[in-house]
Amino acid sequence: MRYSQTFIPTLKENPAEAQVVSHRLMLRAGFIRKLTSGIYTYLPYGLAAIRNVEQIVREEMNRAGALELAMPMVQPADLWKESGRYEKYGPELLRFTDRHDRESCLGPTHEEVITDIARMELHSYRDVPVNFYQIQTKFRDEIRPRFGLMRGREFIMKDAYSFDVDDAGASEAYQKMYDAYCRIFERCGLRYRAVQADSGAIGGNFSHEFMVLADTGEDTIVICKDCEYAANMEKAEVKLRGGKADAALLDMEKVETPGKRKVNSVCEFMQISPSQLVKTMVYLADGEPVAVLLRGDREVEEVKLANLLGAVEVEIAEDKQVFDATGVPTGYLGPVGISIKVVADQEVMTMTNFVVGANEKNYHLKNVNSGRDFEVSAVADLRQITTDDPCPVCGGTLELTQGIEVGHVFKLGTKYSEAMKAMFVDADGEEKPLVMGCYGIGVSRVVAAAIEQNHDNDGIIFPVPIAPYKVTVLNLGTNDETITAAAEKLYQELKNRKIEVLLDDRDERPGAKFKDAELLGIPYRLNVGKSYLNNGVIELVNRRSGEKSEYPLDQVVSVIEQEIASQTTS
Ligand code: ATP
Ligand code: MG
Repeated sequence: MRYSQTFIPTLKENPAEAQVVSHRLMLRAGFIRKLTSGIYTYLPYGLAAIRNVEQIVREEMNRAGALELAMPMVQPADLWKESGRYEKYGPELLRFTDRHDRESCLGPTHEEVITDIARMELHSYRDVPVNFYQIQTKFRDEIRPRFGLMRGREFIMKDAYSFDVDDAGASEAYQKMYDAYCRIFERCGLRYRAVQADSGAIGGNFSHEFMVLADTGEDTIVICKDCEYAANMEKAEVKLRGGKADAALLDMEKVETPGKRKVNSVCEFMQISPSQLVKTMVYLADGEPVAVLLRGDREVEEVKLANLLGAVEVEIAEDKQVFDATGVPTGYLGPVGISIKVVADQEVMTMTNFVVGANEKNYHLKNVNSGRDFEVSAVADLRQITTDDPCPVCGGTLELTQGIEVGHVFKLGTKYSEAMKAMFVDADGEEKPLVMGCYGIGVSRVVAAAIEQNHDNDGIIFPVPIAPYKVTVLNLGTNDETITAAAEKLYQELKNRKIEVLLDDRDERPGAKFKDAELLGIPYRLNVGKSYLNNGVIELVNRRSGEKSEYPLDQVVSVIEQEIASQTTS
């Protein structure tokens, strides 16, 4: 492609609306333009990167034996009522009625539609195993669309759904997808990690998330330095060390703590460490207030709490909500005599003679003990893991790192097939529900994550497999016939070898061309300018390493071809 004939509207300035690097660079490099909140047009350069990811995804899904189809985006509400998700899904599901007053929604995911296909078409054990996939635009009315393509309302997803006769078959399908995902992210040239993920209501280790490692990632990943264990923070299981201390239980005492509402100020005032205090946090679990007890220096893991309570959504209560529910101002809450349901982190059960709020302004209680002074309705692992905790598998040292979730593999079991009656007849003549799995990749998010992981101050540094153009040829003397002829020759030669190339033939200063080439992140740059006139050589610049080398015109294309081959796999 000739730059003069393409459409890559680059921006010199950083757009104010973009908070994260990938969003900023996508706007600056002419990838995308915003239509409205969370909804973008993919301009030619951005679309080309997305198509490259799609191509790799498609090849690997086909290699794994999955079959491509395309399902509708508009879905009838009735299907969602059958699965029970119409009520549960919440406002992320965009609902509307058509001209005949039929309730409909825009597909945020396609379990319902594919299960409908399955119940109509898969009747016998001979019809399975089968895995269907599509690459398609999804709509989720996200509460906070942000960071450009990272969390859009409209975005491109690859979703796949497997059907098997039993759990063994489903496990095989799961493993195939897991392996395909590893190949996909490897082939994209990304540093990634597969981590155990929370599988919500289903439970068990039936879910892995694929994380692109990047400092800016929204997810925290726990990795063991000593074994293979890797998990999403939400899922990482805290192993209790030691049981209840063998201390004598002291008498409970009320202590005046004027104006001391925060853990640190109470501890300072009472001259104790936060590990001797139990804090009481109020959460709203699907709107119901629940008090959560945990050690003063710990943080609640909301996903664990939601799983314990069987709640769809938990959120921390605001001061007023706490007061309305308990009659106690924030900062002085405690489990002794509290009027709402209480659950405790397991660690609290190992503590003795601790400090809590007295449920009265300006007072705390000391020498409080569970069982003797208060009861809880449930105990579980409810806190965030830290690097001081041991690895739950081998006891080794943990490390925390940030990641961006780009893919998710999930065993569904018979949740949808039972609800929607997708049954098959087994070899023994018995009717059984199909066993399902679902597997998603956020294709547009992969491109954003690739940029989060690979950039510098000058712009994007595309991994070769995703780069829309692998090479850019800069004509640094558009008024010079010799230079122009050499640039054209290189351009033709690269095209002949089927290497995607951008010829910068614009009538611009060399400085502007260098800047745009760096911003666009094209992996290899060929400078055709003075050194060609003087010495007959072309300068090759590696975008990632910054390394510069010179080659005669008739050799440089082969050098690039080999470089590209070394970084792409098929
Ligand atoms: P998240 O926790 O980030 O909201 P999710 O758990 O809702 O993701 P899934 O339902 O598993 O995501 O969807 C499959 C994949 O689709 C995710 O792994 C992610 O890469 C991508 N994805 C999900 N929501 C969005 C979004 N709003 N914008 C872009 N990609 C998304
Ligand atoms: Mg989501």
